[in-house]
Amino acid sequence: MKRPDGRKPEDLRPMEAKVGVIENATGSAMFRIGNTIAIAGVYGPREMHPKRLEDPEKSVIKCYYDMYSFSVPERKRPGPDRRSIELSMVIRNALEPAILTKEFPKSGIDIFVSIIQADAGTRCAAITAASMALADAGIPMKDLVCAVACGNVRDTAVADLNKEEEDVELTTDIPIAYMPRAKKITLLQADGDLTAERFKEALKLGIQGCEQIYELQKKALREKYQVSGEMIEDKD
Ligand code: ADP
Repeated sequence: MKRPDGRKPEDLRPMEAKVGVIENATGSAMFRIGNTIAIAGVYGPREMHPKRLEDPEKSVIKCYYDMYSFSVPERKRPGPDRRSIELSMVIRNALEPAILTKEFPKSGIDIFVSIIQADAGTRCAAITAASMALADAGIPMKDLVCAVACGNVRDTAVADLNKEEEDVELTTDIPIAYMPRAKKITLLQADGDLTAERFKEALKLGIQGCEQIYELQKKALREKYQVSGEMIEDKD
């Protein structure tokens, strides 16, 4: 099957990843996949506000997803809406299993993700960027979290749907997030119908895609932390 942009079913769009893009954040990252671009900033672990929400056992993770007005062809009304509130929760829940929250009791970790350009797959791009930003912030994690959508378009399983494909009638979009070392899925959604066979094929392509994204995440982190071929030792 020929996809609108000429990709094979398993192909992801061209990707770019960079760590350390926001000076004032504890950790930050940018991730681009095709025409979707996410920027993530992590602040903390820091004192929890309001204090009554602090947890004596672990750090409280909060996530704020926002799509900029100019990120889509028709200007989007600025500010939070139902979709962004739900996606903030979805992204937070996909990241939390990887974070060793018990290392920082009573603290808060805030994750801000802005979508500056949207062409489908923004929740996945947000998770991928946020996971690199958490690592950049030095927050201990079991694993990075990588995410990409897969799905079923015109009865073919594909990886990384763009907006044009998402808009095809009867398309099923399946965003997944994955911890590649633990081989565990931390997010799995599906917004339509598909057969068990197509689902299995799509999931396989999604996991393969996540593994490619994982390599790029590691490369981006190494680019910041590797000096003349050697990793910087953590002195603390
Ligand atoms: P995701 O971005 O994770 O795929 P959705 O399925 O909700 O999440 O959105 C699919 C795509 O639809 C977005 O990536 C974006 O390109 C487009 N989109 C979402 N919300 C809006 C909006 N308010 N205005 C225009 N386009 C939008």
